[in-house]
Amino acid sequence: MADAGHSAVGTPASDAAASVRPPVIEVEGLKTYFPVKKGVLSRTVGYVRAVDGVTFAINEGETLGLVGESGCGKSTMGKTILKLIEPTAGKITLEGKDITALSRREMRPYRREMQIIFQDPYSSLNPRMSVGNIVGEPFVIHKLAKGREKEDRVAELFSRVGLRPEQMRSYPHEFSGGQRQRVGIARALALNPKLIIGDEPVSALDVSIQAQVINLLMDLQAERGLSYLFISHDLAVVEHISHRVAVMYLGKLVELADKKTIYSNPQHPYTEALLSAVPVPDPAARRKKRVLLEGDVPSAIDPPSGCRFHTRCPYVEARCRTEEPQWREVEKGHWVACHLR
Ligand code: SF4
Repeated sequence: MADAGHSAVGTPASDAAASVRPPVIEVEGLKTYFPVKKGVLSRTVGYVRAVDGVTFAINEGETLGLVGESGCGKSTMGKTILKLIEPTAGKITLEGKDITALSRREMRPYRREMQIIFQDPYSSLNPRMSVGNIVGEPFVIHKLAKGREKEDRVAELFSRVGLRPEQMRSYPHEFSGGQRQRVGIARALALNPKLIIGDEPVSALDVSIQAQVINLLMDLQAERGLSYLFISHDLAVVEHISHRVAVMYLGKLVELADKKTIYSNPQHPYTEALLSAVPVPDPAARRKKRVLLEGDVPSAIDPPSGCRFHTRCPYVEARCRTEEPQWREVEKGHWVACHLR
């Protein structure tokens, strides 16, 4: 395929270019490979191509949902954008500034602009620190506030995310799952970031709590103009929170469009299969036919030739096995990688 991402032309990035401000985050041809080592000499015998040439952009105040089965590279992509994992190739641009090659030290001022919320708030919160100190830690690290001022700012964040300021002295184990995720959100907000990457941020929560946390995230977005990359395998949640949705399969994007288009008129067989498995209140309203997705996601060490989805695609043709489909704009803002579209 024309690397999904080696051309930003016509991608949402170019739509954004029409506006004065650059996208908050833009990735072009992003690749993250992990070496596979074997033998006593630990020789590199191959690579896990977790992210393999991905291009997209997220504008100010926008939520891009990123969906796909587990193991497709979604989380690795989120961490690579934050440079918690170094990219193998490609370009990451934060508000017009190329941050791809910045060292850990050079990244420091930019780190404030990008924060992450993890799936499991319990394991991401230090059990030995009070939640007040956890939320206030970024102020200390970035030398922004201390003492009374820090306490006041943490108390303000607590109130904003629906926690009581007097809970600042408590420890993570004293909170419920939903409250712990609110602590995670307060910490992510502390430095007033532009972009928050949510890595399955509500997947571990009960459904009723999920709705509360999602509503909180949406309210915060409206107030602060935050941008989100919302990673999830739950298409119903993604439909609720996202403006646009990107679908990922084995390290590559296979479809990207605004939410309404993806959910009402999916063009890629993989998107179609994912959607057909989502329970909806009125099945006739959305689902024309049920597409069964058989088998597991193949290995990212040795992905299938041609179209990576060909081993599971119900519409596979001969050329799908040898020829990689182009990443094409089939209608304005709607991108698909499939020979049949
Ligand atoms: Fe299926 Fe072929 Fe399209 Fe791939 S290119 S999704 S195998 S029809």
